Amino acid sequence: MEIRWLGHSAFEIISDDNVKILIDPFISNNPACQVPVEDLNPDIILLTHGHSDHFGDALEISNNTNAPIACIHEISLFLAKQGIRNISINIGGSFIFRNIKFTMLEAKHSSDIDIMDETVPGGTAASFLITFEDGTKIFHAGDTGLFGDMKTIIGDIYKPDVALLPIGDKFTMGPFEAALASMWLNPKAVIPMHYNTFPPIEQDPAIFANFVSQFNPNIDVVVMNPDEYYEYDPEDYQD
Ligand code: ZN
Repeated sequence: MEIRWLGHSAFEIISDDNVKILIDPFISNNPACQVPVEDLNPDIILLTHGHSDHFGDALEISNNTNAPIACIHEISLFLAKQGIRNISINIGGSFIFRNIKFTMLEAKHSSDIDIMDETVPGGTAASFLITFEDGTKIFHAGDTGLFGDMKTIIGDIYKPDVALLPIGDKFTMGPFEAALASMWLNPKAVIPMHYNTFPPIEQDPAIFANFVSQFNPNIDVVVMNPDEYYEYDPEDYQD
């Protein structure tokens, strides 16, 4: 499958069957994203939480494409009021869409919906594990601090192959914490996100890569540029 970074925490993942999954579509106001909203044509949209730098253009894209938005229950109530197709789930639960399994897992962060003048309660922040038909698992951590269940639940039980982790610090883990998370999650490849979009989250991904190589040199750190594609092929990571 192909993983396309749209800058910040926005990713488009395209399965081998050409199912397009759009995660945290912060597009039009994203200084790191040059892709026009109209160019995105997802089959499904995932929202990790309600903050505007993740919620982004989800309403417009769902309206344009009729793609359902999968999110935590409280955000789905908000979407239902706007007449938006949605899939309501909660931490620990899964659903299947076009033969792909989507599991909502924990994140340690806040989640109010702040896309309008008045803030709306958005439940809690979450992360997503996506399991494809060939068994490949991609984990999008959303916004989060470091927490122990990254090892005991997400790493040991769900075993992601690719992890997308925030490294920007200030609002999420920084490079050191994200490298510890990489060690605990133990994926084959890790992609840093949520950095260099704005001055408060400026980071050098090489520092993150250096920590990861100290903690577990077997993990491939894939540093991407916005609008770049990374093709994940399990055969590239066989011993
Ligand atoms: Zn946030």
